[in-house]
Amino acid sequence: MTIPPQLDIKPVLLLGPGPSDAHPNVLRAMATPLLGHLDPQFLSCMNQVQDMLRVVFRTKNALTLPISATGMAGMETCLVNLLEPGDRIIVATAGFFSRRMIEVAQRIGATVTVLEQPWGEVFDPQQIREAIAKERPKALGIVHAETSTGALQPLEEIGAICRETGVLLIVDTVTSLGCVPVEIDAWGIDAAYSCSQKGLSCPPGLSPVTFSPRAVEAMERRKTPEQSWYFDLTLIRKYLGSDRTYHHTAPISMNFALHEGLRLVLEEGVENRWTRHQKNHHALKAGLGALGLEYTANPKHQLPQLNAVRIPAGVDDVAGRKMMLQEFGIEIGGGLGDFKGKAWRIGLMGYNSRPSVVLLCLAALEQVLTRLGVKVAPGAGVAAANAVYAKQS
Ligand SMILES: *Cc1c(COP(=O)(O)O)cnc(C)c1O
Repeated sequence: MTIPPQLDIKPVLLLGPGPSDAHPNVLRAMATPLLGHLDPQFLSCMNQVQDMLRVVFRTKNALTLPISATGMAGMETCLVNLLEPGDRIIVATAGFFSRRMIEVAQRIGATVTVLEQPWGEVFDPQQIREAIAKERPKALGIVHAETSTGALQPLEEIGAICRETGVLLIVDTVTSLGCVPVEIDAWGIDAAYSCSQKGLSCPPGLSPVTFSPRAVEAMERRKTPEQSWYFDLTLIRKYLGSDRTYHHTAPISMNFALHEGLRLVLEEGVENRWTRHQKNHHALKAGLGALGLEYTANPKHQLPQLNAVRIPAGVDDVAGRKMMLQEFGIEIGGGLGDFKGKAWRIGLMGYNSRPSVVLLCLAALEQVLTRLGVKVAPGAGVAAANAVYAKQS
């Protein structure tokens, strides 16, 4: 073969459903020379990563760590450690990612009851209460921020119901962590998983997870070994403990990245970060509205970090996204599952949730929509966003 030239990648602004852009400090941290995974300096970095993850997850859970793989591995870790063949789980599904939870639980051999809501809607705690009373499951699985629909599922009451009934609450916080409030302890969540490449502004490759003492007890009561060797927390915990028994080589550079990503969250302040996401969302939303784009999620439950809007009638999905990418260097997401070809998803996650990004995205969208035949008042999107910013300052 002929040797390809060295990669020469043109930068793209990542406004899809993930990955989102890594913060420049994170990329710099990744260029740090490698260490051995048992090197004292690296162990100290890992301890700090765990401590910072507890702050960001708002938990005291001892078992809080990054799994060495992407968000899906976090999902698998939670389910494979908490479920045994024959265990019953209710999965509340109103989008693409909760459907994945069903598949993973079924592969474990669990008996899955599916509770459904239309895409874009969320669950009423009463519905959950009734399903638990009827099924008496060991666990309930639910997605906090459904990236396929842009809907945010309130969890406080559901957490209280799970506590009352002794059901383990397993939550997907892949798109919520670092963007909107996630309160592991206050809401009574027993197991949660997230990712590095969305709200935490790192590259994909790590999946933070956290387990409550109740979840750890449930693992300790297991009668059968976990089906997965790699994600077996009884083995992984030996690496985290004082023995530091080798399990796998931790991805060193990725952990340097996450260390910096989490440090930046703490420096900004977890709550300030949530407010920032809200502010930029309000501006983007006003702009999208002025361009005639409607959200897919119920207005009461819209995610600030993932703005899913219906593609206007007559506009070609792929042509629109291609123009955004090729002419403006902006990636936005298409629809998933039920929303394939019908929605665009605009992510303002972590580092990308900032005014310059909002204004650039709206200006580019205006041109794209106009060229695809939509009638848009010139400058309407940017003007509406600026009006929101003016009120905020
Ligand atoms: C992105 C995403 C996942 C999957 O994460 P990967 O890092 O792609 O494996 C799971 N759940 C939700 C809600 C997501 O948005």
